[in-house]
Amino acid sequence: MGRKIGSRYTAHQILGRGSAGTVWLGEGPEGPVAIKLLREDLASDQELVGRFVQERTALLSLDHARVVGVHDLVVDGNDLALVMDLVRGTDLRTRLERERRLAPEAAVAIVADVADALAAAHAAGIVHRDVKPENVLLDMQGPLGPGGSHPALLTDFGVAKLIDSPRRTRATKIIGTPDYLAPEIIEGLPPRAAVDIYALATVLYELLAGFTPFGGGHPGAVLRRHVTETVVPLPGIPDELWQLMVQCLAKAPASRLRASELGDRLREQLPQLAGMPPLDVDEPEAEPADEPYEETSPEPHERPPRRGAVPLVPGAAPADANRDTHTSMRVPAPDELAGGARGTARAPRATGTVRPGSARHRASARRRRITLGVAGVVLAAAVGAGAWYATSGDDADPNKPDTGTSAPPVP
Ligand code: ADP
Ligand code: MG
Repeated sequence: MGRKIGSRYTAHQILGRGSAGTVWLGEGPEGPVAIKLLREDLASDQELVGRFVQERTALLSLDHARVVGVHDLVVDGNDLALVMDLVRGTDLRTRLERERRLAPEAAVAIVADVADALAAAHAAGIVHRDVKPENVLLDMQGPLGPGGSHPALLTDFGVAKLIDSPRRTRATKIIGTPDYLAPEIIEGLPPRAAVDIYALATVLYELLAGFTPFGGGHPGAVLRRHVTETVVPLPGIPDELWQLMVQCLAKAPASRLRASELGDRLREQLPQLAGMPPLDVDEPEAEPADEPYEETSPEPHERPPRRGAVPLVPGAAPADANRDTHTSMRVPAPDELAGGARGTARAPRATGTVRPGSARHRASARRRRITLGVAGVVLAAAVGAGAWYATSGDDADPNKPDTGTSAPPVP
């Protein structure tokens, strides 16, 4: 029969799950709807309730063909539900997982739709702050567009903040999803519209490559790459499209295009992309796990791009969590971001010093390891000798195993 939500709606079956709740296929007075039900254990969390209410407020003010419309907010006992347009289809993550990589024409058509949705949101003073494939819905009942793509709609404005909100204080918490976070958010600046452009360009890269440009490993490592690394070019990508992506992935928010311009520029490229097969991008490998991560990373251009979910540390859990919305990350201190900067770090260095990640740096790192190894042998020998000296004076048993074996293992 389904579950009653307030007096007007019934939830029938689960359509999907997000960070804040479960989305149900439901029925209302005007027909089928999608109902996002806040997780029960979270419905009592005031901060989350605030986010939820905010999502409705932001969405109610938005009426655009590329934005999932919101009809109602229901507060009923322990239930807190958001009633939205039902989008019949799938989310972009599901499509990407099925196809691994999209043909450039389809990818560009989808991203252009999302750029249109963002243009409307930005014009209304709303920053989405969580643009990622999970939050893009593909309307399978809509007309087929370029590359055989269904219309794409942007949803989940749950973390959107009004640009003109009075809370202009420096953020201390990061809201967003590590793989898609613009560098200025990580550096603690207030998020403006350009963070959505950065996230959307990351999505475009991911649709074309099958992995995000800076993902993989510990969330802290992902955040640092956003700030310090430049994006690795995708083999075979048309130059004009690549230039557009590079511009929108610029570290400086002011260098990125505006949403409306991005939408236009992407559509201009569609004719040239017609019929082009998905890019032939190598499956990236994990960082070499048996090597120290900081010291042996190859040059940026020779380093294979990494997947969104490759653990850097052997046995570590895959980094899928980097695609979940996080609200408990802390803005890292500047020295944490600068520390161990790899490859393309912008930190100035004195001429003659070895740049981290360079061939010279790797050679010297190897030398350091060899030196350390030698020092370890000497130390172990000294400990062994000391132990022998300490025990040899009294009731040392010559048949006892060599006490030197209790020294730390020689590396
Ligand atoms: P959360 O805010 O909790 O992260 P989302 O809004 O991202 O949740 O929704 C989670 C999933 O539910 C989506 O990835 C999608 O599969 C499905 N979904 C969300 N909204 C709708 C909708 N309006 N129509 C159909 N399915 C939806
Ligand atoms: Mg979501």
